[in-house]
Amino acid sequence: MALLVMKFGGSSVADAEAMRRVAQRVVAAHRAGDRVAVVVSAMGDTTDDLLDLAGQIATGAPPQREMDMLLSAGERISMALLAMAIEQLGVPARSYTGAQAGMRTDTAHGRARLLDVQPDRVRRTLEDGAVAIVAGFQGISTDDDITTLGRGGSDTTAVALAAALHADVCEIYTDVDGLYTADPRIVPSARRVTRITIEETLEMAAHGAKILHLRAVEYARRFQVPLHVRSSFSDQEGTWILVGRPLTEDTMEEPIISGIAHDTSLGKITAVGIPDRPGAAAAVIGAVSQAGVSIDMIVQNVSTTDAETSDISFTLPESDGQTAVAAVRGLQEQMGFADVLWTSHVGKLSLVGAGMRSNPSVASRLFSALADAGVNIEMISTSEIRISVICDQSDLQEAVRSVHTAFDLDAEEEAVVYGGTGR
Ligand code: ADP
Ligand code: ASP
Ligand code: MG
Repeated sequence: MALLVMKFGGSSVADAEAMRRVAQRVVAAHRAGDRVAVVVSAMGDTTDDLLDLAGQIATGAPPQREMDMLLSAGERISMALLAMAIEQLGVPARSYTGAQAGMRTDTAHGRARLLDVQPDRVRRTLEDGAVAIVAGFQGISTDDDITTLGRGGSDTTAVALAAALHADVCEIYTDVDGLYTADPRIVPSARRVTRITIEETLEMAAHGAKILHLRAVEYARRFQVPLHVRSSFSDQEGTWILVGRPLTEDTMEEPIISGIAHDTSLGKITAVGIPDRPGAAAAVIGAVSQAGVSIDMIVQNVSTTDAETSDISFTLPESDGQTAVAAVRGLQEQMGFADVLWTSHVGKLSLVGAGMRSNPSVASRLFSALADAGVNIEMISTSEIRISVICDQSDLQEAVRSVHTAFDLDAEEEAVVYGGTGR
């Protein structure tokens, strides 16, 4: 008898019929003798719709506490309806909010982090032979207020629950058949990856592949939770995410490149004409981090025409643009630099795979593919298992498709996208 955590994303529970289909899957696992804890997301685009609604009511930033009360309601609707659908099929089910399921968080509304997970009630429900359903994406803070974990956070709830229950596997059910070599919504010829290491998955998630919440992958690595990403719309085996790095003959045969992630949520700031002296970069980057903004990629170039000054460019979440520009402008007079430039709609492509550093041909193949597609590269960064480039967002989809083809990743069959709006 296995203990499963099954997580269903928004598109898997988008309407009553989808809810019934999910209930059947849960009941089948339960009847097969497994103990099943379920984590659900809000139905379809509910979270976005609630955000829009708040935007119509509140001008400026709404109170964060109330935003979390509002957004956490989406998952509560799902959990209750799913419990009813499971009961209809003759299996007892009980739903729990994040707070009831023992998800204790810090007080950072909208991006709360889990501090402690004590799912006693979930455990008791499973011992009673019932299915436990937990609302994803939420918890209760150390101040006893309801919090949310950030967009896509239901994945993190699922992994945290799986870790606390010592589940045999955490199954992430979504609207595609697993993790692909690129987002199948923009690369129909993307190939499903059967197995991938958690390190590669981390890089994919960190650089925009929204199939898994980054924090869920980090959590799975820390607590060694095996993940299986698969579709709730088919019975196909999905992608197994391996904790540790097993070097079996099988995995040694797999290609070096595991995939291409893309990110459309970034903007770029350039501080122009900064006096070229020690401490300049520290001051600029320090001011941005003081403002609570995390920076993605940084490039500094000493001006070739004027040896006295340099330019610093960095990318950051587009939504933090105003805050970060204000922070950098605050230094302009004191440091005496010429200008602060803001570019929205920046695109980032990241090629992820083992053995990047030891394989110089990978970089040259990437840059040739981008050149052939007429894509201008604005910034480059590399790591042990990734090369990222910044380009104009309007070039990004074409860039991803070209690089995918250049690395022989195209599959014969088209990937199926079963649902969701991609919102
Ligand atoms: P859910 O609502 O189930 O949490 P998400 O919309 O958060 O689903 O994530 C699934 C989506 O992730 C897919 O529909 C797909 O468009 C997108 N995606 C991005 N990159 C990848 C990738 N490499 N492989 C598979 N899906 C990807
Ligand atoms: N409903 C939340 C969101 O849309 C959490 C999730 O689906 O993971 O971001
Ligand atoms: Mg998701």
